[in-house]
Amino acid sequence: MRSTTAYIDTGAITRNLIEVRRRAAGAKILAVVKADGYGHGLERVAKALAGADGFGVASIDDAERLRAIGHNQRIVLLSGFHDAAELPVIRDLDLDCVLHDHYQLDALRADNAGGKAIRCWLKFDTGMRRLGFPIAELAAIINACKATPAIASELTIMTHLSASDEFDSDATPQQIKRFDQAIDSSHGTHVIEQSIANSAGIVHWPTSKRQWVRPGGVLYGLSTVAGQSGADLGFAPAMRFVANVIATKLLQVGDRVGYGGSFVANKTMRIGIVAAGYGDGYPRHAPSGTPVLVDGLCSNTLGRVSMDLLAIDLSELASAGIGSKVLLWGPELPAETIAECAGTISYELTCGLTRRVRFSEM
Ligand SMILES: *Cc1c(COP(=O)(O)O)cnc(C)c1O
Repeated sequence: MRSTTAYIDTGAITRNLIEVRRRAAGAKILAVVKADGYGHGLERVAKALAGADGFGVASIDDAERLRAIGHNQRIVLLSGFHDAAELPVIRDLDLDCVLHDHYQLDALRADNAGGKAIRCWLKFDTGMRRLGFPIAELAAIINACKATPAIASELTIMTHLSASDEFDSDATPQQIKRFDQAIDSSHGTHVIEQSIANSAGIVHWPTSKRQWVRPGGVLYGLSTVAGQSGADLGFAPAMRFVANVIATKLLQVGDRVGYGGSFVANKTMRIGIVAAGYGDGYPRHAPSGTPVLVDGLCSNTLGRVSMDLLAIDLSELASAGIGSKVLLWGPELPAETIAECAGTISYELTCGLTRRVRFSEM
């Protein structure tokens, strides 16, 4: 059996939630657990995050899984519903819905059979240009919701930051300003709860912290800020991705390694073949030289990553051999470092682990 394993430190996730509470004191926390808890496993992360005030998910299926294991906090469908046929199950599961477009509002207006009112989060576009009503329509949308029996009177208004991890642009202050100005110029909305901050908002933009914060990445100890790991931001990485060395080889000068022979030995070398590849979710774009830790010692990959295997340099690691444990990313080797080598972000790495990887809690 392949031993390629993602060890999940659920205690780290709980501590990260406590750290979010400390940094967003007084705010309610909507723990974002979409994409199977950023690849860490929905049920296990939800258990570790049981102290959150609510959960943010991308699909009704995920919400159903959370209710099935007894979570009775608010669960917010971050993209809302797509079809009126989903409303009965949304009511059954007592879910909150993000409304971001008129077709959703129209469906709720047409839903006049006297069903339970649904709690809604009204999403406004302040610059992301993805989901959200135009911010100029804020007052009109709120009024329309208040006049719709299928929508609960307890509204939350939200927006999403598009560049909260960039500090040399004024995109974030501009988005916050557009949001606040729209609220100021409408009437009576001061009683409505607000939500802006994602992880980077919580860490870097104090004025984005409103009644609800919506952390995702930092709960798993991940960062999107260039050059900074989750640990640099003060959070504990929760995933340790490990595989074993299953073969070793000696190379002579001129020997090539792997598909395409992109790595060529310029000295005699000893290499290890590790049972991990892009079929497990290790990024194929990671070039020769991407760091790994072998029994805790620094080394790096050699040649192209293949589906099941990758090669590493053991020349300086005389004690390493078959069975040695290779850390591909984890607290001692930030996923952000590997992501940078591969031209992506750490979120994509943890979300990208495949089904054949074993998961184990620690
Ligand atoms: C994914 C998501 C978040 C969490 O973002 P992080 O950068 O992981 O903290 C917050 N809000 C919405 C609407 C999201 O889709």
